Amino acid sequence: NVPPRIVDVGATAPYRISIGPGLLDDGDLLATTLRGRHALIVSDANVAPLYADRLEAALRRAKPNLHIARHVVAAGEAEKTLANFGTVIEALAALGATRDASVIALGGGVVGDMAGFAAACWMRGIDCVQVPSTLLAMVDSSVGGKTAVDIPQGKNLVGAFHPPRAVIADTGMLHTLPPRELRAGLAEVIKYGAIIDASFLAWLEAHCDGLLAGDDALLADAIARSCQHKAAITERDPFEHGERALLNFGHTFGHAIEAEQGYAEGLNHGEAVAVGMVLAARLSQALDMATRADADHLQMLLQRFGLPTAIPASLDADALLARMRLDKKTQASGLRFILWDRAGAASVVADVDEAAVLGV
Ligand code: NAD
Ligand code: ZN
Repeated sequence: NVPPRIVDVGATAPYRISIGPGLLDDGDLLATTLRGRHALIVSDANVAPLYADRLEAALRRAKPNLHIARHVVAAGEAEKTLANFGTVIEALAALGATRDASVIALGGGVVGDMAGFAAACWMRGIDCVQVPSTLLAMVDSSVGGKTAVDIPQGKNLVGAFHPPRAVIADTGMLHTLPPRELRAGLAEVIKYGAIIDASFLAWLEAHCDGLLAGDDALLADAIARSCQHKAAITERDPFEHGERALLNFGHTFGHAIEAEQGYAEGLNHGEAVAVGMVLAARLSQALDMATRADADHLQMLLQRFGLPTAIPASLDADALLARMRLDKKTQASGLRFILWDRAGAASVVADVDEAAVLGV
């Protein structure tokens, strides 16, 4: 019996994040987030068979007059397309969704981003309730209001800022998540500790085994703390003029690794970010910002969580550097990195010396 953790966020568009096991069956909680008579549940082919019936049954119990439709897309990043976005829009049209309708995004970040973008566009913006089913979606993509789809020219190039109406994170759903996906989400959780919260980092270290074993109370606490940090940072800097960039810790290296290996194979996003955080820490060490002991410690922590900490041997350093030069966030100011000072402290540094980058 784990009581839900509540995180209230958003100054201009406030919303509540509820976190805990069993929330998927809490029809009253779900119903309070819906304003109108129409709800479209958007999910993917892995998640829908596991959870869509429960969600729909809970909604019907709490709100018998609700018109509910379900739209299921194939699973995977390759499906986060304009074409699938179009099918969500068509499903809203078929439902006869009015301005007070809601999209319910039941799935990982792929579903959340695409369904959120469809909600942002239908009638210039309707409510989107995020029901994230991966740890990454619970701690990252469902919070902060960024929605998007990919196009062949790049990931997330078409999208909108559209904060959710509510986020309902049922930690029970994490029990069916492949362990590798859980660890990938934990990489992003560790990131929050590394950049902004030293005591959280120590807490994660102390509870590594329980978190990896899927303990609901520990996961709920870790998700709540992560959401608090993401929400606080994005509220202070919604359009990434400053502090929000810290959330990219490990991501300049990580994105280069993902792009160079091809997105469909090799490391997943969280794993690439884990490697990227170690490289960023080593770069900080080389530039006399972080101590060797701190960088060693971060690497050891990521290893304890079963995450990779070295660049795959098949990838070439010069090719990765070339990718980093192309990264949209580095273009204006030379190579830009989130460098690490110590546990809980990071800073944005522009014009980082390429030789030092190649060195790590
Ligand atoms: P995902 O949505 O592809 O989910 C990963 C896999 O797990 C999929 O195969 C999915 O079907 C499956 N799955 C999901 N939940 C499950 C469950 N409970 N049980 C069993 N299987 C389950 O990937 P993701 O890692 O959740 O999200 C990645 C996406 O998030 C990327 O597109 C990325 O761009 C986006 N993202 C967005 C933001 C943002 O701020 N909007 C932030 C970070 C990442
Ligand atoms: Zn990330």
